[in-house]
Amino acid sequence: MSKAPTPQPGIMEIEPYQGGASKIEGVENAIKLSSNENPFGPSDKVIEAYQRAQHQLHRYPPTDHAALRNAIGEVHGLDPDTIICGAGSDEIISFLCQAYAGPGDEVIHTEHGFSMYRISALAAGATPVEVPERDRKVSANAILEGVTDNTRLVFIANPANPTGTMVGKAEVTRLAKSLPEHVILVLDGAYAEYVEDFDGGASLVKRFPNVVMTRTFSKIYGLGGLRIGWGHARPEVIEVLNRVRGPFNLSNTQLAAAEAAVRDRAHVDRCRADNTRLRAWLAEALAERGVPSDTSCANFVLARFADRDEAEACDEFLRSEGVIVRRVAGYKLPNCLRITVGDEASCRRVAHLIGQFKGAGANDG
Ligand SMILES: *Cc1c(COP(=O)(O)O)cnc(C)c1O
Repeated sequence: MSKAPTPQPGIMEIEPYQGGASKIEGVENAIKLSSNENPFGPSDKVIEAYQRAQHQLHRYPPTDHAALRNAIGEVHGLDPDTIICGAGSDEIISFLCQAYAGPGDEVIHTEHGFSMYRISALAAGATPVEVPERDRKVSANAILEGVTDNTRLVFIANPANPTGTMVGKAEVTRLAKSLPEHVILVLDGAYAEYVEDFDGGASLVKRFPNVVMTRTFSKIYGLGGLRIGWGHARPEVIEVLNRVRGPFNLSNTQLAAAEAAVRDRAHVDRCRADNTRLRAWLAEALAERGVPSDTSCANFVLARFADRDEAEACDEFLRSEGVIVRRVAGYKLPNCLRITVGDEASCRRVAHLIGQFKGAGANDG
């Protein structure tokens, strides 16, 4: 008698990650505002480094990522021994769950938190625990109320996705201070570069042995397609994570491109300034057309509609006009659509179309 192979407990509870759509049937040149990508792409220096890397395709990459960790360390003022690099920050999130959480352990994420936290916790055999937010904002108190003796990890993104809201430094510090020592607080800084003079939580890593920061090259650096991210923690934690990391998890191409990207600060500054300007314009244009949003600190706006039906109807209308935004019902925000801040023409187009949808008779000026 044969028995079918059975996956580990928890695996079948994983709902596969839903990426932002990138195509509309029958539409060429759709405007894609569904995955928080940088509309300007990476810097020219990254393209040059990427092209140079083609001469090394037959060589195995280094396993220690020393050149990239040194570059990140120089730019951010961090010791390279406190840095680990991965295939997107998703891989760092996965390392954390694999290394620190297993069957019987709890991993806290918040009500509207990024879906990879739950997926990675389940993949590690751990139990994801959801705690409420307050008006689409992460709450330190709600997290602390959710902590038990079994809690191993707490994940928050700051700024958060898909809400775009931020928790202030005092509250994050209080959270770090109040968590039991056996709990790791992960500060996901995927959108940190969009906030001027924000260190993404690096200073808290210095103060607390149980704080980890994750960062990515997928957002402001315009490299979502290449898959590079990094984590920052005390060397004791980095040393643990390196044990679950595959030795060749990043290619020569990824390493070269990321190093060129992190060194080009002018490109980052330009993209941040453009995003700040266009985000303010878009949020205001939507508000004028009867669609409010929380003040966003990231490269997208979470547009709020009257209810689920209106949000879905608006999404359908935008699609019919060749514009792709992101439904976020899966994030318990069924009445909202997340709209990435694109280039100026895309912002004008989406605002114009939403105005048309709302029948406000607004023009796109
Ligand atoms: C986009 C995003 C990431 C980045 O994922 P990568 O694997 O680095 O592409 C991480 N966290 C959040 C909250 C995000 O929105």
